[in-house]
Amino acid sequence: MQQYSAAQDGSHLFVVDPCSYTQRRDAEGAAIIGCEVPIAGETLHFQIAVTAGQVRLADLVPAARQLGDAISRRVVERAAAEKYSIPCGRGCSACCRRYLVPVTVCEAFALTGQVLAAEPPESRRIQRRLLLAARRIMERQPPKLSFDGSGTCSDTDLAATSRWYEQIDVRCPFLEGDCCSIYAARPVACRQHFVHGSAEGCTGHSDDAERLPMPVQMADVLGLVAAELESAAVEAVPLPLIPAWCDLNAERGLRTWPAVVAAETLARTVRQAALEGMREVSGVC
Ligand code: SF4
Ligand code: SF4
Repeated sequence: MQQYSAAQDGSHLFVVDPCSYTQRRDAEGAAIIGCEVPIAGETLHFQIAVTAGQVRLADLVPAARQLGDAISRRVVERAAAEKYSIPCGRGCSACCRRYLVPVTVCEAFALTGQVLAAEPPESRRIQRRLLLAARRIMERQPPKLSFDGSGTCSDTDLAATSRWYEQIDVRCPFLEGDCCSIYAARPVACRQHFVHGSAEGCTGHSDDAERLPMPVQMADVLGLVAAELESAAVEAVPLPLIPAWCDLNAERGLRTWPAVVAAETLARTVRQAALEGMREVSGVC
């Protein structure tokens, strides 16, 4: 079995939760990299703990999830305080049936490693669903996505992909009933997908759901971090294709970097993305 994580528990690199005794204890003796992210009129202060050692791309994912979740929480709280209704939550799944989720290179390795490491019956069940979805996608050839220098895909490309995906009618292979079977480890694109209005609007039967703008997209951030570490172009992998993609790119999943270099790149890229997001909001180019 291919192991794409150098530190199986992700402990070389994590965001310190000031409320978690275990994390504070684990961070003792670790280097701390500060990360200040301006969001929604305030600055969020994070500390990324880094122990000596090497990390693979997959090892960046837990910290990216923590940062993305904290940013999303702040944005959702702010929207709720402004009386927007945010209907999103666990078990609400119309979006999982309609959108093809773009997965960053780091997450492709992390999720594939997780599927392979699951108990055999569960692992086989998910691999089979991924395979069926991938086959349907490849039979119906998706439109090509292109990314600009900041790692962002154009709205036109995304809209074309969404239309195509709705037509081929493939639900996410991780969806079981109405629940995400990997909820705690779902991709950052899913974690940061919120709407305001009504969940009915996500079924396509009404217009009453509008995407909540997210000033920092962790999918873009992780894409840029991987591209910088690998000296390569930004890439995104359609979720059902991750096992096949990882097979083809296995050696990339085994490459390592000093944990401190990876953490500094992550911290700098999140901050830069937040500053760019602020400039866009204020109209400054
Ligand atoms: S985006 Fe829509 S379908 Fe998805 S969780 Fe939110 S309300 Fe539910
Ligand atoms: S990974 Fe989970 S949250 Fe994301 S689309 Fe699939 S089922 Fe939905």
